[in-house]
Amino acid sequence: MIVANWKNTGSKELIRAWVDSVSQDIDIVKGKDCVFCPPTCYLDYSKDYIKQRNKDIKIGSQELDSELTSPLTGAISSQMLADLGCEFVIIGHSEQRIHLNESNEILSDKFLKAIERDIIPIFCIGETKSQKDADLTKEVLSKQLDAIQTDLVSKCIIAYEPVWAIGTGDHAEISLIEKMHTYIKEYVINKTKSSSQISVVYGGSVNLDNYKEIYSSTEVDGLLIGGASLDACTFSEIYNMS
Ligand code: PEP
Repeated sequence: MIVANWKNTGSKELIRAWVDSVSQDIDIVKGKDCVFCPPTCYLDYSKDYIKQRNKDIKIGSQELDSELTSPLTGAISSQMLADLGCEFVIIGHSEQRIHLNESNEILSDKFLKAIERDIIPIFCIGETKSQKDADLTKEVLSKQLDAIQTDLVSKCIIAYEPVWAIGTGDHAEISLIEKMHTYIKEYVINKTKSSSQISVVYGGSVNLDNYKEIYSSTEVDGLLIGGASLDACTFSEIYNMS
């Protein structure tokens, strides 16, 4: 799968131009999802516009609020996301873990809420630079993976996104990506006591210069692309050539 994460960038005009271009250039392949994650306020607009272009670009949300047992002004529920036709939701992105203080408990609840509505979580995990330098990466990833209920882990996509690689232009070396994807898959197999593998996608400064090498690894099941996905031609090329 190839995922475009627009973060807090976008407008109706930019979305129209992107969808027009991607719909024209992209050759959707069965089994390789093309997922567009615009800002939440444009989900409905994007979904409608993609429908008009008759292309199987799926919609993912960047946002989902947890613990909605009482009224919460401004919150987004999984029921709303399902109503909008969202098939995926990004959960645990490092920017949200850091800036919104998202704990494992919160993420676990979001995860559950998404699954309840048949929305596939794209669950982001990754280490900071200092954790990497202290050789703590595997420990950090394991703790983050433990937020997911054991019986539900097979229902998600894991995104390995080293925090130091996001938006920095400094992507992880392929050897590190392979090592960590293998570790994540093994950890999940041990945790679930099941032989079925989960998909692990990589995110962190993927661009036209590095996507081929990263995606060519059998350990990499897809790409989560931030900055570079804003350019429609770049995104289409990465999708078509991966
Ligand atoms: C992201 O936001 O998930 C991401 C991977 O961003 P970028 O591609 O810009 O590093």
